[in-house]
Amino acid sequence: MRWIGGRESSNVDDRRGLSTGGVVAGGGIIGVIVIVLRLLLGGGGGSDEIQTPDQTRQMTVEEKAADDERAKFVKVVLGYTEDVWDELFAQQGKQYQHPTLVLYRSRVQSACGFASSATGPFYCPGDQELYIDLSFYEELKDRFQAPGDFAMAYVEAHEVGHHVQKLLGIAAKMDNLRQQLSEGEYNKYSVMIELQADFFAGVWAHHAQQMKNILEAGDVDEALNAATAIGDDRIQQQSQGYIVPESFTHGTSKQRYYWFKKGFDSGDMNQGDTFHDPSLQ
Ligand SMILES: [Zn+2]
Repeated sequence: MRWIGGRESSNVDDRRGLSTGGVVAGGGIIGVIVIVLRLLLGGGGGSDEIQTPDQTRQMTVEEKAADDERAKFVKVVLGYTEDVWDELFAQQGKQYQHPTLVLYRSRVQSACGFASSATGPFYCPGDQELYIDLSFYEELKDRFQAPGDFAMAYVEAHEVGHHVQKLLGIAAKMDNLRQQLSEGEYNKYSVMIELQADFFAGVWAHHAQQMKNILEAGDVDEALNAATAIGDDRIQQQSQGYIVPESFTHGTSKQRYYWFKKGFDSGDMNQGDTFHDPSLQ
């Protein structure tokens, strides 16, 4: 992705240097509406976060430089999401309110509860902030075999997609449903909301390309590969050796690929109604 020299968003709360020591991280994510990029095993929920020892080891100079480079990258990507969504909202006579990106290390407190790096990047509708531990970059590459800067850009744009849903009132509708439905029934809606966030990530990529010519050869494949790598079926198969479709909350690899691509190919926000798509009923 072409990003060096791009505008870095100023809506960033950089907490990487802050210590989170002394706070017990038990209880996992207590917020009921936190929408996470699912990295842990499917199903369940309510699992306690694994308490990692305080990561107080000092970074080497090289690690620090790499970390700062990634911070720059996600700030530029955030800036690009602002430029695109500003424009798309304006076209509908609306105003896009910019979310804040919180950069953290190891653990973080959000309005959705306490989270750790194991949660993966997430968006909290309660404070309208995106949370990213930059070590996820490595995790994408090593654990999910989804390397490349545009894989990371897709993940970030997906979280921004949840913010768009919040602004459009979709998140509030989901909250109502969550209170009315059993967990099993709600999972189906969770998949719809996640696939729509993938779709919005694709819409963003489409317009970012048109506005700024950001894509280099292989970038779209990096995003599609990442979308495939974090499908529920793929993750469950790898982590537990079998899949439980009823427990899916983010969609299969194929679905995630499909919706990102649909957004990217069309660039049309109106084609992302996952809630009425026959294949998802
Ligand atoms: Zn999500």
